[in-house]
Amino acid sequence: MTTTLSTYRIDNRHLKSLGPLDIPARLLLGPGPSNADPAVLAAMDRQPIGHLDKAYLELMDEVQALMRYAWQTDNRMTLPVSGTGSAAMEATLANTIEPGDRVLVGVNGYFGHRLVDMAGRYGAEVSTVNRPWGEVFTLTELRAAMETHRPQILALVHAETSTGVCQPMDGIGDLCREYDCLLILDTVTSLGGVPLFLDEWKVDLAYSCSQKGLSCPPGSSPFTMGDRALEKLNNRKSKVANWYLDMSLLSNYWGNGRTYHHTAPVNMTYAIREALRLLAEEGLEARWNRHQQAAEYLWDGLEAMGLSCHVDREYRLPTLTTVRVPKGINAKAVTSRLIDEHNMELGGGLGDLAGQVWRVGLMGYNAEKKNVDKFLAALTKVLAEM
Ligand SMILES: *Cc1c(COP(=O)(O)O)cnc(C)c1O
Repeated sequence: MTTTLSTYRIDNRHLKSLGPLDIPARLLLGPGPSNADPAVLAAMDRQPIGHLDKAYLELMDEVQALMRYAWQTDNRMTLPVSGTGSAAMEATLANTIEPGDRVLVGVNGYFGHRLVDMAGRYGAEVSTVNRPWGEVFTLTELRAAMETHRPQILALVHAETSTGVCQPMDGIGDLCREYDCLLILDTVTSLGGVPLFLDEWKVDLAYSCSQKGLSCPPGSSPFTMGDRALEKLNNRKSKVANWYLDMSLLSNYWGNGRTYHHTAPVNMTYAIREALRLLAEEGLEARWNRHQQAAEYLWDGLEAMGLSCHVDREYRLPTLTTVRVPKGINAKAVTSRLIDEHNMELGGGLGDLAGQVWRVGLMGYNAEKKNVDKFLAALTKVLAEM
């Protein structure tokens, strides 16, 4: 049989005329991704090497050490999951849940709901403790929920990106130990921007992403699990229901065995190593202060414009601010004009807050007063014209 061009149902006549990649220059002030640090982009711009190359294995050790610093944890099992934050999120649940386990999830925003959905898929009996979007949980209500549900696992979101609240962690780790329960913490919008002390807080498993506080492109996501979680993993009766995220297999690659599991996204490892290296170079305290200062500058500026924030100042997240949309203003029309006329991305409200707030992210590389100035000037102009 001879094959002629007319045999192909899909030909390249139109595709041939596509130009090379052309990406607009955006200032990303939404819920993520944030702009990547140029040094991180430069680090990615190298040839890949083999994922079992001696030089690569060294990089892996460095990334693990840098992650332990960023999270303030000694956990041996600390590694980047190949995928975005949701993959690392799923890894914490997949490796801890055995069918029939009771899982309690704190739901006060969009990502609490995602945890509920994922935990159910692994066969957990899921119950929730709820709060309106924009509020935090008190230790007393968490204790009452633990008493009622007696879960094997409690999952909480430290930094709820849908609402802009930061959950206070005092006493929660001790509460979980008292009830012989593992504590999972979503630190996707806190790592690299908000104080985190995983070991001091007695957090058993945590996950994050690369594209928010670390200012790295999405695709390599920090994951950590401590000894209590490892013990549960080692004593499982059934296999982890997700092959790709099974830490008992992945630990042979990231640990001493160095045996192939899946091909590591090598260039993403270059990128996250650089992002974490920049964090270590700046130092956690300086990094956290920079975020707090940029956020307070934003909050003061918004107030001066007569706008108000959705969350009480005490629980406000520096990395993400929810701003109430003034009466009579179409939230979506403002975000469209900001991106079309000012190359600036903002987030809209999700779920219970849809249409009611804008979400302003000041994360990693972007957490600078000069970006706040640019944003406030653009917002003032757009609102005046509407
Ligand atoms: C962004 C985010 C996630 C999901 O991460 P992806 O990288 O989008 O998969 C999970 N939890 C929170 C709190 C987030 O903000």
